[in-house]
Amino acid sequence: MLTLDILKQKLTEKQRIVVTTHYKPDGDAMGSSLGLYYWLQANGHDVNIIVPSDYPSFLFWMPGQEDVIIYTAQLDRSHQLIDEADLIFCLDFNHLSRIHEMEHVVRDAKALKIMIDHHLVPEGFDDFRHWDSSAAATAQLVYDFIVNQMNDRAGITPDIATCLYTGIMTDTGSFRFPSTSAQVHLIISDLINLGAQNWKIHEHVFNSSTENRLKFLGFCLLNRLEVLSEYNTALFAVSREDIERFNVSTGDTEGLVNYALSVSGIRLAALIIDRKERIKISLRSIGDFPCNEICSIYFQGGGHKNAAGGSSDESLEDTVTTFKSILPNYKNLLTK
Ligand code: 5GP
Ligand code: MN
Repeated sequence: MLTLDILKQKLTEKQRIVVTTHYKPDGDAMGSSLGLYYWLQANGHDVNIIVPSDYPSFLFWMPGQEDVIIYTAQLDRSHQLIDEADLIFCLDFNHLSRIHEMEHVVRDAKALKIMIDHHLVPEGFDDFRHWDSSAAATAQLVYDFIVNQMNDRAGITPDIATCLYTGIMTDTGSFRFPSTSAQVHLIISDLINLGAQNWKIHEHVFNSSTENRLKFLGFCLLNRLEVLSEYNTALFAVSREDIERFNVSTGDTEGLVNYALSVSGIRLAALIIDRKERIKISLRSIGDFPCNEICSIYFQGGGHKNAAGGSSDESLEDTVTTFKSILPNYKNLLTK
């Protein structure tokens, strides 16, 4: 185990560092990783950011994203950087399975692993962790790491502030979720003071749909939304054919599940979607319904109480059937 003092000491000398985050990175994964990447670079380290897969185009405007290495597109270079690294920062995940093909490479690397994360139940691969499952976003923990653990608020540049703002904004559903504490608003206020242009960030993330994406949304609302009133549950089941018809790409389905949750009275919403490699499930809930429990028991996944994800090896139809068969066990929680 690494103590904070030893980590601080190490960071006073130039280190070879890899920053990585989970498969199909979202706004918090990219925001926290790019924010930390800039800060480490400014402190004189040799830093590379390697992500396990592509990420949504609504994040392509982010500062530093042109430096991001996609593992599957640059295998040899990624292996060399990971093998040679002194430190690997693992952001916004706490099980190495969440970096898919990179799992074994990172697990076997000689580097010390520093985990910064807000998900429940860490696996324990890390040598140092800044972990708090009550944090609204990993970007909030990166802010805390830089400001309070590294005592370097002055080191937060406008680019870093922009990245961290994006992470907190996207993981709190634009400051709507219960995780949005007064402290989160104070941090957001500070990030605006430090140069994050809040309105521009919202514009980039939310007003960047393609025509196809909006038409796909309309199609899903009209044809794929199923409301199970008996269980206060709503779901979308989206087939491979639908995806191909609307040329859906990474990120186009982001936020879709929230439309199911926005139906009045709905406590549980699901998006079950046939992604080529597997059936992907996203769950969202309001109140005490434990999405993470369902995902970890039935769908090889996990996450938070009110937002979790997983996958299934069954067909789309069978996955929907499995999902529906679970609901009677939770009827009390869903209807009381
Ligand atoms: P989403 O539904 O947006 O993909 O993910 C919602 C939440 O569940 C996120 O916090 C994400 O980290 C977590 N999550 C999504 N997919 C998986 C998965 O396959 N495994 C685990 N452990 N967590 C997941
Ligand atoms: Mn997150």
